[in-house]
Amino acid sequence: MNFNRILSLTKTAKLGRTLLSARAGERLNFRVQSPQLCVQTSSRSLSYAKDLFLGKVNKNEVFPYPEISNEELEEIKQFVVPVEKFFHEDVDSKKIDEEAKIPPETLDGLKSLGLFGIQVPEEYGGLGLSNTMYARLGEITSLDGAIAVTLAAHQAIGLKGILMAGTEEQKAKYLPRLASGEHVAAFCLTEPGSGSDAASIQTRATLTEDGKHFLINGSKIWISNGGMADIMTVFARTEVVDKEGQKNEKITAFIVEKTFGGVASGKPEDKLGIRGSNTCEVTFENTKVPIENVIGEVGGGFKVAMNILNSGRFSMGSACAGMIKKLIGIKMIQLINFFVNKQTGSNKIRNVCLSEMTADYASTRKQFTRKLAEFGMIQEKFSIMALNVFVMESMAYLTAGLMDRPGVPDCSVEAAMVKVFSSEGAWVCVSEALQVLGGVGYTKNYPFERYLRDCRILQIFEGTNEILRMYIALTGMQYAGKILTGKIKEMKKGNVGVVFEILGKKLKDSLGRTVDYGLTGKDGVVHPSLTESAKMLEQNVALFGSTVEGLLYRYGKTVVDEQLVLKRVADTLINLYAMTAVLSRASRSISIGLRNHGHEVLLANTFCKDAFFKNNYWMTQLQRNEKLELQWTLDGHQLSVVSVGISAIAASSSLDAHICLGDLGTGKQIKSIDAGPVVAWSVVFSPGSKYKATGSHLGKVNIFGLESGKKEYSLDTRGKSILSITYRPDGDT
Ligand SMILES: Cc1cc2nc3c(=O)[nH]c(=O)nc-3n(C[C@H](O)[C@H](O)[C@H](O)COP(=O)(O)OP(=O)(O)OC[C@H]3O[C@@H](n4cnc5c(N)ncnc54)[C@H](O)[C@@H]3O)c2cc1C
Repeated sequence: MNFNRILSLTKTAKLGRTLLSARAGERLNFRVQSPQLCVQTSSRSLSYAKDLFLGKVNKNEVFPYPEISNEELEEIKQFVVPVEKFFHEDVDSKKIDEEAKIPPETLDGLKSLGLFGIQVPEEYGGLGLSNTMYARLGEITSLDGAIAVTLAAHQAIGLKGILMAGTEEQKAKYLPRLASGEHVAAFCLTEPGSGSDAASIQTRATLTEDGKHFLINGSKIWISNGGMADIMTVFARTEVVDKEGQKNEKITAFIVEKTFGGVASGKPEDKLGIRGSNTCEVTFENTKVPIENVIGEVGGGFKVAMNILNSGRFSMGSACAGMIKKLIGIKMIQLINFFVNKQTGSNKIRNVCLSEMTADYASTRKQFTRKLAEFGMIQEKFSIMALNVFVMESMAYLTAGLMDRPGVPDCSVEAAMVKVFSSEGAWVCVSEALQVLGGVGYTKNYPFERYLRDCRILQIFEGTNEILRMYIALTGMQYAGKILTGKIKEMKKGNVGVVFEILGKKLKDSLGRTVDYGLTGKDGVVHPSLTESAKMLEQNVALFGSTVEGLLYRYGKTVVDEQLVLKRVADTLINLYAMTAVLSRASRSISIGLRNHGHEVLLANTFCKDAFFKNNYWMTQLQRNEKLELQWTLDGHQLSVVSVGISAIAASSSLDAHICLGDLGTGKQIKSIDAGPVVAWSVVFSPGSKYKATGSHLGKVNIFGLESGKKEYSLDTRGKSILSITYRPDGDT
């Protein structure tokens, strides 16, 4: 569904050059829509992901891995068992797909299980479950894509506005019948001209003369449940008069009952996947909505829309994991056993033989007189699936656990990361599972092709992955920008100390300095068997912090237009969060002696190693050409970095070879030397040496004494091929 105009990005792209063009010395404050939940009463904000942009690891936020109480565990079991039974026995997904319709008796079954009001508080007739429990049930409901979307459209977005921002009267009036499923809800934001750019909607709501109603006119498309919804959350433009008496157009959210009149649903869309879910156009013609049905404030609807979308994405991780586990057809533990046994050389393929679907097929089908499961490339597919499931689950339940903490923390960036990682991971895994079956997997006799079609939507709705990547990157860059503004300002003003400090940090990072954020060791939170992976995470985070700093310096606010930069920033962050989640989960499993924790360690270490190398590659790309960009002024001269040594940095003026040397450790300027009337193009400086050499485009090489600042030796290199020069003050050169 729509996202917040990419943090108003399509807009910012247009406005970018004016609104965001300023670089040096301005506040690096992009227009990122604040995605705080409307229901937030205390402003406990979670900063784990955002702090990574500053190169910080806020370990207490994410370690130890969230626990649920025994009481909750028992409670969830009570729900899980009947829901699993229902999906296995009463849901005919093949029929739903073929007939493009969920039969009424299936919908009734879902309602009687309470699945239309999972998170609606008990006082309004719902199950009142936590985010963690919602995620757990999502593992099962995702076994049928059409049902999962129908349920999500109803409660993750359709009724969520009332739940999050509705008045007590609105909740009491609407939630009970929505929770029971007597009424079905829909979320109406997207329009023909307004998809990702949600803020550009044209549907209008005009106040009637008596001031008691709004009349809504407009058309919404792609509305899930649009053909069967009784209650809709509709977003429309309204006129708002500000304090100065100025009239503005702002978006407002409304609760619209189908019975209000003037509401018409179009023909169901004929879709690639999730065919049984109902998606259609919904039009509103002079639909009369009482003013009491405004959700939140008049003019505050865009925030309501974004908060609704931001709050629901985390569950896609467990939903995708549930779907892939089903496809593999084995309990996760059997899969890990299989994967681990292959690595350790033992052979327990029988575990897998007992199962069905992909694993079963691989362990029974023979080619070249061997079982498919014995081939390395087939085994690799299982390891890809196992890894993805493990990471998706770890990220989803970490995020759900964070969201369940008191104070309703804002986890919108974490949730967006779960969504991007899981939707893309699901696509890869379903395709790999299908591949294991070869031609058989491509037929309608097996559910693989249906799962492939069904899961393709995950990258498109709930915010497309492109828009979410920009949201993830820009939210963090904005956060870091606010904190680093002063430093960058100083740097641009020519504060050499600041420049040296930043460059020094960067250099040390690129040399793989040992960083220690306390994940391991005396007060460590990661189990010792995961030390190597924890160190990789720490190193990546340190480099990420300095990379972000460099990007902010280089682009300032115009980074909003650098989509490929933002994509790499987002992908690196997603990996950092995923590494954190698996380390936290596996450490907990070891600490509490969970059965088979060894498998989790293997999966966590495997993922971290892979992510570490990918991150380093992306960050190297992001840092490319950075040295050329690093220019600052000193005494009115433009200086650029010409040489970086192990402990010192040298910079020369583009005008007159004014040379600066800085200490990378202290960030202090060691020396400033006038290199003579030549434009220096290179400076060689060895720490510990008393001398420094400069070369110029004139072919002159000058040697300077660091103490004296005087030119000690000058060599005209024109016409000579010189590879190196060694200067000995008392001898020959
Ligand atoms: C099955 C289904 C169910 C849906 N259910 C609902 C619903 O219940 N309620 C509702 O309101 N909406 C719903 N939607 C709409 C959905 O949210 C939108 O399809 C989605 O927001 C994308 O908008 P769009 O289709 O107009 O694509 P566009 O916005 O036109 O985008 C097309 C492509 O361009 C990319 N793109 C766009 N802008 C940028 C940019 N600035 N930079 C880089 N790439 C960009 C997008 O990522 C995408 O890949 C549903 C859609 C589908 C298909």
